[in-house]
Amino acid sequence: MVDFQKKTTPLVINWHLLEPCNFGCRYCYAQWNKSQLPLVFKERHLSEKLISQIASLQKKSPYIRLSFAGGEPLLDKDISHKIGFSYNLGIKNSIITNGSLISKNLSLDSVSKLSMLGISIDSASQKTNQKIGRSLNGKACNYENVIRFLDESRDINPNLRIKVNTVVNQFNWNEDLSELIMRIKPDKWKILRVLPATPKSKKEAIYYEQYEQFRVTHNHIPFAQFEDNSDMICSYLMIDPHGRFFYNSEEGYKYTESILKIGMETALKNVNFDYGKFSIRYRGSIV
Ligand code: SF4
Repeated sequence: MVDFQKKTTPLVINWHLLEPCNFGCRYCYAQWNKSQLPLVFKERHLSEKLISQIASLQKKSPYIRLSFAGGEPLLDKDISHKIGFSYNLGIKNSIITNGSLISKNLSLDSVSKLSMLGISIDSASQKTNQKIGRSLNGKACNYENVIRFLDESRDINPNLRIKVNTVVNQFNWNEDLSELIMRIKPDKWKILRVLPATPKSKKEAIYYEQYEQFRVTHNHIPFAQFEDNSDMICSYLMIDPHGRFFYNSEEGYKYTESILKIGMETALKNVNFDYGKFSIRYRGSIV
């Protein structure tokens, strides 16, 4: 449960806008129970209502960041409006994207309203990305384009923080990503072990030793931050495409009722979230 007693509690809320993605990673976690509830991202008035609910937490916390995720959030045609609406309510915004649509679907105006831009990168190799499923019709993301876009983004928004997320999986655990990562120079490189959270990802689990091998290869990178499975469980506040908080359990994802129905405060009381673990993940820095 979130303890707002100290009124200094920063929070990051991840809204997984939609399930579809232009890539098809074998371990993808974007797989939620179907519901009769509407898909919130598709309806502007529902999206605004949900973002307003998130904004209401600013009365209790000095720092609220809303992270737009997916699936691939840049497939949402109304993403600029969401970022702008949230920004105008005083929320810090971030987005986590696979990078392939970044120059086409993320406007520089939206970039100017972000506090953090995250790119998920598992491999520098076209072949490995194909094996992971991180490609469309055999074509993986062009990281030269991403690097160019990030340079431009830093120019127009000097406060922008850049993050890279990497999931260590069956196909990249013995790869050395140092060169690409050092070219991107993110503020944080988050390295996660594939989490067997969904029926799909359960088949993709790797051994501790494989994750450790990746750690040894990249330990020299100062901004690398390793998150093993136990660090991840219950340390994220996540909203699904139907506007429900969800969290990991042994039986897969569990859900609260819709935040639009029961309100943010009640929904937060019903979610299994360990603020202590969340704080450790951020180690005093909310980036
Ligand atoms: S890029 Fe992300 S959302 Fe898309 S398939 Fe891969 S893990 Fe899933």
